[in-house]
Amino acid sequence: MRVEGLAINLATVREQWGLRQAVEACARHGIFAVDPWRDQVAACGLTEAATLMRDNGMRVSGYCRGGMFPGADPAARQAAIDDNRRALDEAAALGAACLVLVVGGLPKASRDLAGARAMVAEGLAALLDHARACRMPLAIEPLHPMYAADRACVNTLAQALDLCDRLGAGVGVAIDTYHVWWDPDLARQVARAGAGGRILAYHIGDWLVPTRDMLLDRGMMGDGIIDFKAMRRLIEDAGFTGPQEVEIFSALDWWKRPGEEVLAACIERFRACC
Ligand code: ZN
Repeated sequence: MRVEGLAINLATVREQWGLRQAVEACARHGIFAVDPWRDQVAACGLTEAATLMRDNGMRVSGYCRGGMFPGADPAARQAAIDDNRRALDEAAALGAACLVLVVGGLPKASRDLAGARAMVAEGLAALLDHARACRMPLAIEPLHPMYAADRACVNTLAQALDLCDRLGAGVGVAIDTYHVWWDPDLARQVARAGAGGRILAYHIGDWLVPTRDMLLDRGMMGDGIIDFKAMRRLIEDAGFTGPQEVEIFSALDWWKRPGEEVLAACIERFRACC
């Protein structure tokens, strides 16, 4: 039976399966939207990955990931932009809905957070022509502030939308419950994102109490404290009609379980909690 409205970010089963196995398993479970990662696509081969998606009738709800714009010197920043251009080409070849961006944190040994944020804005601006030319929207994903130093110095939806306002067409946001659930301004910013046509992706994963690892202890929906039904209402009231994409990095739990069990749990919790 087809599970409508659900997508799987393939990081969720990255320890269990390669791209082909993961896509074919999703299809067996009736899930027809996935978001693959660049390393998974590279291991499979881009052309083969694109064929795999087509043959299985997969919608590609996003492509993970580009970004990482800040660098210690101009050469490093240019290398990041060049790499992002390649990521855009890959996303286009896969027919992805957007290229998801984790924008990057502080360059090594830097304490200049404002400078890193300026580098992100410059990197996005430098990438935009190519993104527009290949009709591949850039989805800025604000990350929880605990990652500001090492992964993403864009930390709130408001901050991401301010960047969108400055950049114009071809850029939007990926809203991930794990990263934004705590934001007191969330309802207003989701509505703002929707009004601007900026919501490109909606990722779901739960916040566990306690969280034992900053990166690799995300929860299955229902195991933590996020109100997914309320979040979904916000997102849909803002006009987003795409799938809810389960994205769970879980070295401590779900990555240790059989992939089939993980997908079955995603479907069950999606139906019960989301
Ligand atoms: Zn995400």
